[in-house]
Amino acid sequence: MPLREIRDTDIEQECDVCGAIHAVPEDDVTVGVETEGQLDARVIPLPPCANCGATEYLISSADNEAEHPSPGSFGHRHRLMVDALHSKLVNKGRVAAGIDTAKAKGKERTTDELNKWFKGSMKLQRLKEEKSAQPEKGTPVEAEVE
Ligand SMILES: [Zn+2]
Repeated sequence: MPLREIRDTDIEQECDVCGAIHAVPEDDVTVGVETEGQLDARVIPLPPCANCGATEYLISSADNEAEHPSPGSFGHRHRLMVDALHSKLVNKGRVAAGIDTAKAKGKERTTDELNKWFKGSMKLQRLKEEKSAQPEKGTPVEAEVE
């Protein structure tokens, strides 16, 4: 699990594998990944985790991608974060060689939209709402029997 915060010159990432939290300088992040000779401008590869070596890929929304089904959820807000980071990097020209910044824009998020969900600070942490997928109180749970 991925992006926790977008700051002026770096981002904060939580490693999906080991849970380590890293401040990744924006200068170490470039948009675009080459797979089988094809450049994918939607993907933002993050540097390997210093702790466990895992590499994480953030994938921004396609231009015509449908909105997230549950607005306000962690998944929705994380997607907005990734899109905002993607736009920021592309606007700064931080793209891999061979990527056309004009075509790599992806889905643009307006300041209004971002403010609505983030209120000015691009921060995200797992919240209680994330747990709503788990059984609610009162749901019968099988007792552990020795
Ligand atoms: Zn790790």
